[in-house]
Amino acid sequence: MNSTEKLNKNLRIIENVIFVLAFGYIMYHLVTSYGSYVHDSIKGKGYIGAIVDPIFTHEYYISVVSILIILSATCVLWEILFFIIQLLKEERGNTQGYDKYKIIFKKVSVNYKPSFLALLIHQLLPKLILINMFWIWLPHIQKFGLFTINLKWYSWIYAYLCWEFSTWVFHFSSHRIRFLWCLHSPHHAPAELNMTVNWVHFFAESYYSTLIHLVISTLLGVNPLMFLAIMSIDSAWGVFTHVSERALKNGQLGILRYLIITPSHHRVHHAKNPLYLDTNFAFVLPIWDWMFGTLQPIKEEVKVNYGISRELDVTNFSDLYFGEILLLYRDVKNAAGIKNKLLYIVMAPGWTPTCSAKTASAVRQDFLKTNPALGVTSKDRFLAAIKSSFKIDKLKVKGV
Ligand SMILES: [Zn+2]
Ligand SMILES: [Zn+2]
Repeated sequence: MNSTEKLNKNLRIIENVIFVLAFGYIMYHLVTSYGSYVHDSIKGKGYIGAIVDPIFTHEYYISVVSILIILSATCVLWEILFFIIQLLKEERGNTQGYDKYKIIFKKVSVNYKPSFLALLIHQLLPKLILINMFWIWLPHIQKFGLFTINLKWYSWIYAYLCWEFSTWVFHFSSHRIRFLWCLHSPHHAPAELNMTVNWVHFFAESYYSTLIHLVISTLLGVNPLMFLAIMSIDSAWGVFTHVSERALKNGQLGILRYLIITPSHHRVHHAKNPLYLDTNFAFVLPIWDWMFGTLQPIKEEVKVNYGISRELDVTNFSDLYFGEILLLYRDVKNAAGIKNKLLYIVMAPGWTPTCSAKTASAVRQDFLKTNPALGVTSKDRFLAAIKSSFKIDKLKVKGV
């Protein structure tokens, strides 16, 4: 074993020890705080109080926020416990002794190591930086907005459309600009989805995401009082759309899939199949993906293959979290001339000075050339229907 392999092995042992501690601590914290809230609810406080109390002061959106927080905490806990129970059942009788626990640990690591370690990093960093940035910038940005909307029910629809537009911009740019992809790629690295994958983000990504959401929504006139409720809906739905295939096999949600981003849509977004690359950027409403031509429903004949295109062991957290940054650093260092160095930073992942055929959009377009039927979207069908009805009307006018 050479010195690099030895270092990697030691690093993996340290990661595993931290993961076990983080898993134990976070699960203990989740279960006990959930339990004490349920206990308090029996006395009319806890969860019940968090939902009912704001109704008396007519702050209904706080009740909605409380319901969403409770629902997503319940779903996450249920999914983790469901996974562990299923795993123990599967392994019962398969192997014995040390090997059995080794396999169980490996499977738990594949599913939960990225989430728990990413959450731990997030918890250790001062969240105040983010909160301050959010509220300090707000009044200054508002000055540049043309108007600020009221809190009537129809304004909430407008606000959500604006927020979703900013989500699309943030998410699309995170896939199409290499240095932003470095921040976003940890979220795409897991080889299987479960609701805690929603926690897997490089810590600096929140700063970029908040900035884009804040600037675009405020300039479009969204009332800052709406942000808390909108962010809670986003976050709660974001947790649910990552639900595992073990817990919810078909995530299409019936007719709802035409109105809302479903787990099935988001599974497509996490896929590395050429057909699914760089599609479904929305978090809640599919409208902007539909408008910009990036909406891709799941196809039965193309089974989702999760992860990112390079070889990666998801239990290697250091590689998952910092790997893309190191690769970008290596490419910039080796690039000839300042222009190429800068282009590496801002062009799409996969771009090189001599070839653009490996970017996600090029790979997808290449795939669609040989499989055009798979790329036909509801927007294409909608536009084709308008076009053909327009032709019929023209013929009628001509008296044919
Ligand atoms: Zn993404
Ligand atoms: Zn996701």
